Amino acid sequence: MIQTPFYLIDKSKLLQNMEKVALLREKSGAKALLALKCFATWSVFDLMREYMDGTTSSSLYEVRLGREKFGKETHAYSVAYGDNEIDEVISHADKIIFNSIGQLERFADKASGITRGLRLNPQVSSSSFDLADPARPFSRLGEWDLRKVEPVMDRISGFMIHNNCENSDFDLFDKMLGEIESRFGPLLKRAEWVSLGGGIHFTGENYPIERFAERLKKFSGDYGVQVYLEPGEASITKSTTLEVTVLDTLYNGKDLAIVDSSIEAHMLDLLIYREKAKIAPNSGPHSYMICGKSCLAGDVFGEFQFPEPLKIGDRISVQDAAGYTMVKKNWFNGVKMPSIAIKELDGSIRLVREFDYSDFEQNLS
Ligand SMILES: *Cc1c(COP(=O)(O)O)cnc(C)c1O
Repeated sequence: MIQTPFYLIDKSKLLQNMEKVALLREKSGAKALLALKCFATWSVFDLMREYMDGTTSSSLYEVRLGREKFGKETHAYSVAYGDNEIDEVISHADKIIFNSIGQLERFADKASGITRGLRLNPQVSSSSFDLADPARPFSRLGEWDLRKVEPVMDRISGFMIHNNCENSDFDLFDKMLGEIESRFGPLLKRAEWVSLGGGIHFTGENYPIERFAERLKKFSGDYGVQVYLEPGEASITKSTTLEVTVLDTLYNGKDLAIVDSSIEAHMLDLLIYREKAKIAPNSGPHSYMICGKSCLAGDVFGEFQFPEPLKIGDRISVQDAAGYTMVKKNWFNGVKMPSIAIKELDGSIRLVREFDYSDFEQNLS
């Protein structure tokens, strides 16, 4: 028995996503790069590498990890690079995508040995949450003025556009791509490649993969470009749980159960986006508020149903704990950091990483 808390990556579930990614690549001709900012647990890259074309990154450390642990095509992107890191970034990348014309002009010569591109901002997105909306007013994420991009076309061969966010609606994707085409069409015609970013939930249940593939293929044909996708969440969705144990139960007007984890430390996005965790099957007559063990008053996973009353020592599996979760875990409150375990395709469970006091201590000085 592995001591909780731990993240459990189920390779057979990961494989289901990977097979959809492979199908999409085959039907559409698009290439798929894993977005490391969403998921960087490299112990499963051996499996993912078989089904994806490489990685994309948001920083020097991510591009290096992509090169060293994943291999294949390695794209570099960052909102801004510093003078002190640009040479090393270029040394790890096959392609570098600049966020602004200013960055492109500053570093274009240094990067002349690899493929160069620019991020465009189409000023439309599928996000309804301001914090995560790349097209929010005054957004710093990419250039939108055609007249400014035109003069730098001699230094780039393609574009990256990332404006989808947890978008499971194909028609909305289609509509926004149409808007991108009518807005940037003349520039796209002159490009060799276009990355459409991440945020498209094409591995989700009932997503019309065939129509999606057709649309990408048509886009690729109409503009004569190699299409890239940068799936983060779509690559790993529903593959991983956070395994926790009940440490205490109490009744304060509601039944509460405290577990050996914390949303702020181990599932931070629940707090940032005000979402509830998912617990399966979440049915039965006994209702509990599942709470974290940090001292944050609102450290609550949510309220869930259970078939039996909870008792100390019971195990709970929090669903969907891969994307934007493991990459964000932190040492708040000194809560024990979840170990990482992998359920192999044959069903055996392998512990790949444990964290202890020395990791906590070494994190600061
Ligand atoms: C965040 C991000 C991704 C991945 O997004 P998902 O929603 O996880 O698919 C891809 N590309 C860029 C540029 C991003 O910022």
